[in-house]
Amino acid sequence: MSQQHNQETTAPDHRDTRKGRLEFNKLRKRLRRQMGKAIADFSMIEAGDRVMVCISGGKDSHAMLELLIALRSSAPIDFDIVAVTLDQKQPGYPEEVLPAYLEQLEIPFYILEKDTYSVVRAIVPEGKTTCGLCSRLRRGTLYGFAEQIGASKIALGHHRDDIVETLFLNLFFGGKLKAMPAKLKSDDGQHLVIRPLAYCRESDIADYARAMQFPIIPCNLCGTQENLQRQEIKSMLRGWEQQYPGRTETIFRALGNVAPSHLMDQTLFDFKGLDVEVDQSLGLPGIRVVNL
Ligand code: SF4
Repeated sequence: MSQQHNQETTAPDHRDTRKGRLEFNKLRKRLRRQMGKAIADFSMIEAGDRVMVCISGGKDSHAMLELLIALRSSAPIDFDIVAVTLDQKQPGYPEEVLPAYLEQLEIPFYILEKDTYSVVRAIVPEGKTTCGLCSRLRRGTLYGFAEQIGASKIALGHHRDDIVETLFLNLFFGGKLKAMPAKLKSDDGQHLVIRPLAYCRESDIADYARAMQFPIIPCNLCGTQENLQRQEIKSMLRGWEQQYPGRTETIFRALGNVAPSHLMDQTLFDFKGLDVEVDQSLGLPGIRVVNL
């Protein structure tokens, strides 16, 4: 695979006021710092890794790729970046957009073509949300390709807000205290999936994507509405954030600050084995009122 370690994508010209430039530089610094910290905290990338970066064409995956390329140019370790995108053959998919963009980044990239759209349409009844099956098929194809190219890590563009939303989805609709991991082994045990944007706020990524003018391809070309439950959670979190600024961040911090002894999961904490030493030889006092 070719390497291009000293390359950064160029910022567009429209940040032409001094204030705009300062704000943008602060934003870029923050995102780079947060990504670097997440990668270090979870040992997401090691020397010699081949990181397959999954590009959906949305703002998150674009930002992830650009930030990873920048990070690699200053990283003390050597690793490969390979961008991969899947054309699922949704009607109206602009198939020329991503190849043209990826070409100018001068990194190895692959466009996979697979008509999962027709499969989803054929299986999911009219009016039902198709995103669940569509994502599973996409994941399966991408993981299979990761194996073909010997990718040691698969990078996905989920961010802090996705993680918090997933926590509440599982809590409210699944009865589980579980979010979305920053690093995990895939179900088949064959791949390590990483989420380098785990510490980054969605609003920062959106601002960054706008400033960088990434060529965004909307995910809803297929006409499917986003899952209703996720929409509800998003609007709940938005409301909280407006009323209590910083609440999402507080909830996110809680995910790294878990006290199994104060929850109820008997597989995480040995409640039955809890014990204390008591002096059994002591008798009960013979008086009723005890002045201590
Ligand atoms: S919006 Fe369409 S393309 Fe995107 S995940 Fe859902 S079904 Fe798939």
